[in-house]
Amino acid sequence: MSHILVVEDESAIAELISINLRHAGFEVTIAATAEQAQAAVDGALPDLIILDWMLPGQSGLSLAKRWRSEARTRELPVIMLTARADEDDKIQGLDAGADDYLTKPFSTKELMARIRAVLRRKAPEALDSVVEVGALKIDPATRRVSRGDMDVKVGATEFRLLHFFMTHPERVHSRAQLLDRVWGDHVFIEERTVDVHVKRLREALGPVQCAQMIETVRGAGYRLTQQGGVGVVSTTKPQSQAA
Ligand code: CA
Repeated sequence: MSHILVVEDESAIAELISINLRHAGFEVTIAATAEQAQAAVDGALPDLIILDWMLPGQSGLSLAKRWRSEARTRELPVIMLTARADEDDKIQGLDAGADDYLTKPFSTKELMARIRAVLRRKAPEALDSVVEVGALKIDPATRRVSRGDMDVKVGATEFRLLHFFMTHPERVHSRAQLLDRVWGDHVFIEERTVDVHVKRLREALGPVQCAQMIETVRGAGYRLTQQGGVGVVSTTKPQSQAA
């Protein structure tokens, strides 16, 4: 289930947003201050953050800047909320690294649409859309993995791992990043846990000739690549592709 952190000190607004998000199937955490928000992020990376500009103490704006400056949180999707409608403020918010910006009062319908748009762009693993890489297809809604008319049987963790790989193909992910994004825990789970589940995932993909799609990148982590699977199923590589 996708997780959204709502950082808002006005409890009525925080509640209204949360009710709508939960109704749409998201898991929600509410933080009323920048400190609470930081503590929540330190614990587990959410899929998206809705961040109010005006908070008691540290502002939402400085929080957004801080997240953008740190490697672990740099890619976090952030939608800023504010009562300010000035063009200058909007530019400041976007400069601070917000992915989108909504001025209060806003309709929850618009907020939901913006959330989906930002997730599609930055965290597609948080959405239920069918994803295809090469001949491999994954459907989060029905929890099915298939190649053509062949089903692939995978465990729950391997499914989440494969879904993350398939929504971020060709990119190398470190074990720590995978723990953060797939397990939601980068502190208490050992990095070799990732290796165990990658091994199981490859075993599950073996029968449909897609195990090679999951590449080990020495000293860096893992990557899902289209090249590794379909297209190189034959054992002899054409000369032109040998690089
Ligand atoms: Ca506020």
